[in-house]
Amino acid sequence: MIETARKSERLRVNEIFHSLQGEADAVGYPTVFVRLTGCPLRCQYCDTEYAFHAGDWLDLEAILDKVRGYGAQHVCVTGGEPLAQPNCLKLLTRLCDDGFHVSLETSGALDVAAVDARVSRVIDVKTPASNEASRNRLENFQALTPRDQLKFVICSREDYDWSKEFLRQHRLAERCRILFSPSYHQQSPTTLAELDGIAPATVAAKH
Ligand code: SF4
Repeated sequence: MIETARKSERLRVNEIFHSLQGEADAVGYPTVFVRLTGCPLRCQYCDTEYAFHAGDWLDLEAILDKVRGYGAQHVCVTGGEPLAQPNCLKLLTRLCDDGFHVSLETSGALDVAAVDARVSRVIDVKTPASNEASRNRLENFQALTPRDQLKFVICSREDYDWSKEFLRQHRLAERCRILFSPSYHQQSPTTLAELDGIAPATVAAKH
């Protein structure tokens, strides 16, 4: 019984580290990153494959202690796909209760409705060139608020055109902030910035 209770408070963690946020609207803030292990997707441009399998099981309290130790105000829970571990929801709430500014980076393939409302959700929309566009969970768009951000990783002109049409079809620019991010080594940031009609979006520096 005790062992069951302990397992209900654990997460498999790939790494916890302190750095400057390089993405989305919290860019530049000193941030503690909690990278959880595992992802059910396989985007062709993935740069965190090392997080698919490796990691240590940690109690929530041990994660919180480590995060507190850095003395930062911002925490980003990322992956992999952090929501693939159900206890991620508990971690997000506990971080918010502690007074941190909390963001969540998620693939857009899993349900985000149960995420604590205090969390800023950065939700990917997978483009055709990611090879995972069929995983976009359209029901998530019903739960979007102005606190959230949708991120398109753009690999090509075709991806850009597809993304603009996707935004128009689902009227997403009216619901939250939109980020277009060039895929590293696949899409020039300069070219992306110069494409016609990019005004509603923000171009982030990296995926
Ligand atoms: S969702 Fe993120 S972590 Fe998972 S395969 Fe795609 S880029 Fe990698």
